[in-house]
Amino acid sequence: MKRRVFLKRTGMAAAILASMPPELSGCRGGGKRKLMLMRYDTEWWGPPSAMKGFLEKLVEVHRKDQIPVTLFCKGATLEAMESEFRAFSREVKGDPLFDLQDHSYSHIGLGYEKGKPVHVLEADYRRSFLAHERILGERPVGIARCGTSDDGPALTGFDATGKSREEFEMVVGLGTRMIDSFLTGVDGSREFIDYGRLGHPEVMGFISGYSDTAWMARGESGDPVEYMLNEIRARADRQEHMPVMFHDWVAWQKAPDQELSHVRKIAETGREKGYELSTHLACYHDRKLWQDPLDDKLAS
Ligand SMILES: [Zn+2]
Repeated sequence: MKRRVFLKRTGMAAAILASMPPELSGCRGGGKRKLMLMRYDTEWWGPPSAMKGFLEKLVEVHRKDQIPVTLFCKGATLEAMESEFRAFSREVKGDPLFDLQDHSYSHIGLGYEKGKPVHVLEADYRRSFLAHERILGERPVGIARCGTSDDGPALTGFDATGKSREEFEMVVGLGTRMIDSFLTGVDGSREFIDYGRLGHPEVMGFISGYSDTAWMARGESGDPVEYMLNEIRARADRQEHMPVMFHDWVAWQKAPDQELSHVRKIAETGREKGYELSTHLACYHDRKLWQDPLDDKLAS
């Protein structure tokens, strides 16, 4: 898309949204509906025995409390625990509470200053998608970007450099239709977006944040559960969406118990504060939540 066209579009969109009453402008930037999006980045790299019982407990707890959840699974983890994930996918198939998406094959980084060459990234994602198809029986349409320590600083968004634009184009070419909200000037922990700015209004950007590696594994904010419940209350009072990022290994190996009691408390408090709990895929199907109404009209 030409820059002039983009500026014209975003300018018009901003003007129209600003003139709308809040109930019509919907959730973009925080309307009346508040979404809580819970996910597990599923990436355990050690012996499968260290995660024994986790997937069974996850199914039990999320069904008992009716907590929708998305698992962003690393291809290498699926392969290392193939029989466990085959059983899990048979168990949850067709159950809308469980959404299974991707987290790269080897935990490779997208959107970093240095990063790997695009063809290396592409090979990694292709390998992961194949593992999903083979073991879970379905090709993913969503990716949660991986945090890495060896790729240099993270960029401000996929729009930041020519290479990061290529990376975005590559994952869209593989069939990705939802990925973290990652554009310069966008608050990725609060805003659902569409990627019209990069010529892909059909791709959803989802909210992401509150990784349990910080508040649970490293205990950076005092009592982990109290901290999270306070954050939920504060965000709810400001009418903001709430992302929660668990990890398989943190929830199972670093939590106070193996009953996922912290997950249950977080969901319960979210509901008390008026949050609608959802999977990422359900958000994707709810176009009003993330698609700029002008992207449809101007595209035609
Ligand atoms: Zn990860």
